[in-house]
Amino acid sequence: MASKAALDLLVIGGGSGGLGCARRASQLGAKVAIVEHGRLGGTCVNVGCVPKKVMWYTAQHSEFLHDHADYGFTVSDWKFNWPTIKKSRDEYVKRLNGIYFNNLEKDNVEYISGHAQFTGPSEVKVGDRTLTAKHILIATGTKPMIPPNTPGSELGITSDGFFELEDLPKKTVVVGSGYIAVELAGILSTLGSDVTLVIRYNKVIRSFDAMLSDSLMEELKNSGVKIAHFSQVGSVSKTGEELTVSLVPHTDAGKAQDITNVSTLLWAVGRNANMVDLGFDKTGATLDRRGFIQVDDFQNTTVKNLYALGDIAGNKLLTPVAIAAGRKLAHRLFENKPNSKLDYSNIPTVVFSHPTIGTVGLSEAEAEKMYGKDKLKIYKSSFTSMYHAVTTRKTKTAMKLITLLPEEKVIGLHVIGLGCDEMLQGFGVAIKMGATKADFDSCVAIHPTSSEEFVTLR
Ligand SMILES: Cc1cc2nc3c(=O)[nH]c(=O)nc-3n(C[C@H](O)[C@H](O)[C@H](O)COP(=O)(O)OP(=O)(O)OC[C@H]3O[C@@H](n4cnc5c(N)ncnc54)[C@H](O)[C@@H]3O)c2cc1C
Repeated sequence: MASKAALDLLVIGGGSGGLGCARRASQLGAKVAIVEHGRLGGTCVNVGCVPKKVMWYTAQHSEFLHDHADYGFTVSDWKFNWPTIKKSRDEYVKRLNGIYFNNLEKDNVEYISGHAQFTGPSEVKVGDRTLTAKHILIATGTKPMIPPNTPGSELGITSDGFFELEDLPKKTVVVGSGYIAVELAGILSTLGSDVTLVIRYNKVIRSFDAMLSDSLMEELKNSGVKIAHFSQVGSVSKTGEELTVSLVPHTDAGKAQDITNVSTLLWAVGRNANMVDLGFDKTGATLDRRGFIQVDDFQNTTVKNLYALGDIAGNKLLTPVAIAAGRKLAHRLFENKPNSKLDYSNIPTVVFSHPTIGTVGLSEAEAEKMYGKDKLKIYKSSFTSMYHAVTTRKTKTAMKLITLLPEEKVIGLHVIGLGCDEMLQGFGVAIKMGATKADFDSCVAIHPTSSEEFVTLR
């Protein structure tokens, strides 16, 4: 059965990028349909940012509970019940699924529930429907990886499985050093699981500014997360309900060890482009060397009228990036704005670790590589936030501004510490506008806050 009327835009994938593009295109007058084979909202809403942030808030409660006595409260006999928050979290996500559905109706986007598969460069099959459109967007996201060649690896779960856990695991091994690994390890450990983080090299989030990765390593250790450095998983076995995770050295500095009585093994070792049964080969478009869809600055694939954006295009795998790229594409195609494209520079991002990390612009290493050490002036500060003045539990705040001489234009801003997640957005605006250190200094400090340090750095 062919579709009733020609579509202007067919979007494959009802996640952040696909929804962003579909709704904006329809608002601009295009006839749009979107195909989704899972739950509307994609990774972010169902198994990513949203439920993760709920769990991060949950963990933050636990941290603050430890500080209550220092603030003069007597809180006796508190217990944590994982199923309570899981139930509320699942209900919240369900509500969001409904809101996304209603938004599509409101914006007049046809929602097709089913699996999309290309049968040609401009033809897609969904069930018994064959759809064609002037423009087709692939926004099918990524899928978490389980190492295929590690014996017993299938006994572990991924971040998707984390959100299905019915209870807090007693003992967890988290494998990986990226932001998802440290976020989930932090949540589990803060809530009381005995967590070992297995990393292949000396530290976590190695692509971030060194100050951030070094500080986070300290915080992870202080909070009780055990770290198996220079290690990787050699094999996994199961006895009864418990796992033994056998580690082998990844480099000479690593050591072999068995971690026994493990309740949950969580792989956070990367994500692959999601092209399962997509029939991508039928499009004739090209993949890049990492297996993501190759696109230019305007999200064009190598095939005319076929586009890709969001995680599947492999550049800055973040929800607001996917949404923004989707909207920009809609404006280009349906509002006659040929130059509409997302600027991928200076995208602020937060890691919901304990404490949180905020980062925008270049790391010191990247800036040195790009401009040379002698062209930079770096400002740093490290202190204990006033919140901890009266607590026995302490976390550190560390900040860094990277400026480019001679104007001292701010080209990198990095912070780890309590509250920096909500601090970063405004600095992101300033940096996007090309602010200099003098502009920062001309803004009167807000006292007493941690963020005031950024406008008083010497
Ligand atoms: C644990 C975790 C935490 C995260 N936390 C954050 C965060 O705090 N902040 C942030 O900005 N980002 C975060 N992210 C990343 C963010 O979720 C992604 O960058 C974002 O969801 C990408 O959007 P997308 O539209 O490209 O893909 P997705 O949201 O993955 O959407 C793709 C959709 O396509 C559908 N699909 C795939 N193939 C087909 C097909 N053939 N037919 C029909 N439908 C199909 C899928 O079911 C899915 O719904 C997190 C990710 C994870 C895993």
